Amino acid sequence: MTPPATMEILDAFEAGEDISNSHAETLIEESAPDAVERLHLLADAERKTSVGDEVSYIVNANVNFTNVCYTDCKYCGFYRRPSDPDAYTHGDDVLREKFGRARDFGVTEICMQGGLNPAISLDRYEEVLRLAKEVIPGVHLHAYSPAEIDHIQRKTRLPLEVILRRLKDAGLGSIPGTAAEILVERVKKMISPRRIPVERWCEIIRTAHSVGIPTTSTIMYGHVESPGEIAIHMGILRTIQAEAGKDSEGRFTEFVPLPFIPYDNMMGAEFGIEKMAGLDYVFRIHAVARLFFRNHIKNIQVAWPKIGIDAAKKALSLGVNDLGGTLIEENITRESGAEYGQALTVEQFQKAITSAGRIPVQRSTTYEHISENDPRYRPPRPEDEQMLGTNAAGGKKRISLGLLAPDQNSK
Ligand code: SF4
Repeated sequence: MTPPATMEILDAFEAGEDISNSHAETLIEESAPDAVERLHLLADAERKTSVGDEVSYIVNANVNFTNVCYTDCKYCGFYRRPSDPDAYTHGDDVLREKFGRARDFGVTEICMQGGLNPAISLDRYEEVLRLAKEVIPGVHLHAYSPAEIDHIQRKTRLPLEVILRRLKDAGLGSIPGTAAEILVERVKKMISPRRIPVERWCEIIRTAHSVGIPTTSTIMYGHVESPGEIAIHMGILRTIQAEAGKDSEGRFTEFVPLPFIPYDNMMGAEFGIEKMAGLDYVFRIHAVARLFFRNHIKNIQVAWPKIGIDAAKKALSLGVNDLGGTLIEENITRESGAEYGQALTVEQFQKAITSAGRIPVQRSTTYEHISENDPRYRPPRPEDEQMLGTNAAGGKKRISLGLLAPDQNSK
């Protein structure tokens, strides 16, 4: 039987049918202008039905407490060996200073991920959470990717539930759904053979959800994967979300497509990838995600540090409803050679959203709207740009294919 063409798939979607994996593959591959235009329009309409016209952002900061890692993911521009001159594992004093800076900026969330450092075990992961809470009372800690949770379990041999409950007791609020890359073993074996396999990633996410820890979900695309593998990845996420149940605290809060940044890491050179996926493709992935996750994942985020704020604004017209975070200290993407900024001020966020004809709303990590009379509301401040300093101006794309430098491209 001939598979349905794009217009038939979109007709069926409008009639209430879900997009299947194979239909998602067809949509991702579609490039005919009229079909793509209809896809974008439908994604925009679905966004409006599902979440309205508000576009959310979060005031947050990244804190990376160690870049020491032995996992050698080929796309990573972040990790260092312990003897490297710029390797670091921060002690309490440095962390206290970083958390203090984030507190002064007015963040509601600290996002923390790091390398898989053999010298760090569960006790230290707990201490860092407690320290963050001590310096910033009430802050939401969005921390420790499934790869780090796996690392902790391999060191401690404790059951996953025990580890996750201990971290939750120490202040963990949610887990980044990173380290997923593409949830297909063929791809994982090529790009990160020493990182957690697909089943393990799913096990950790499911266990986190089962103990009431929400997670985000991501995909890192635009490298060696096929459109069909992107569809398989999204299908796995949709299945996990359906299992979690609509009213559960532990579920995916959002889906964040992350285009692979090929500069300053081994993978670009090894696989002959010289540039990022084109914006047409980037937009299509977001639009397909909006349709694919209908009734499952309401929030589709665009990763502005990967594509720039102007392109991110365009994505708001094809299914996206979240711009992510202010991300003071956004080292990870930048160290893989991303061309765009390291931080945006609240004012820059609000202006970008308003100029796209939408309504800016500050949100919490779990997508609770933070109104202006909420003590967590963070208004624009005149000193913001100065505080962010040169970091706000953006990293420079450093084209140095073949360098053995690293990332957490997928983080
Ligand atoms: S992506 Fe994470 S696990 Fe992989 S090498 Fe980089 S720091 Fe290590």
